[in-house]
Amino acid sequence: MLPDALLHLVELLARLPGVGEKTAQRFALHLVAEKSGTAQALGAALAELGERVKSCERCGNIAEVDGAGKAVCGVCRDSRRDSALLCIVAKVQDLLAIERSGAMRGRYFVLGRLLSPLDGIGPDELPLPRLFERIADDGVREVIVATPPSVDGEATALLLARELAARNVAISRIASGVPHGGDLECADQITLGRAIEGRRTLDSR
Ligand code: ZN
Repeated sequence: MLPDALLHLVELLARLPGVGEKTAQRFALHLVAEKSGTAQALGAALAELGERVKSCERCGNIAEVDGAGKAVCGVCRDSRRDSALLCIVAKVQDLLAIERSGAMRGRYFVLGRLLSPLDGIGPDELPLPRLFERIADDGVREVIVATPPSVDGEATALLLARELAARNVAISRIASGVPHGGDLECADQITLGRAIEGRRTLDSR
């Protein structure tokens, strides 16, 4: 029924989170029909994305690539931040949610994934060597584990507590308030701010 080029676009759009086949088709048909150049602008923006936006080489946050080809994010470049305080999150969306709460004056480390034995993700799949290096380089004294309150998030928090126990840093876990199984990025700013402020020491035993 539809031209191949359009089908291909529908297929790509349907890979985005929260976009099903029907929505993807609606987007694609809209882009074909509309006349203000959105499709061309979108194409150009997407083509540029890979070159200009990368993961921050220090923390994993989203960063703009500078003239020298280096990607260091705004949080890592901000000299007013407390380097001795490091907040560990699962994904960039969680970092952005915590930033919106305004409760975090330190810096971040984005794991990119959580421990998930059922999905075959073990400790070796987490960027722990990079995290330890960061802790040593920055002289981190307190680590706040802000992984989500899910089974995988808790398992990851325990692993981090065990791994960090011998590294002379205080380890705390964000307080409850974010509902179990809930997503940090969906928590409101006040709840998230309180969860950071009310963090408690994480026991590795
Ligand atoms: Zn960064």
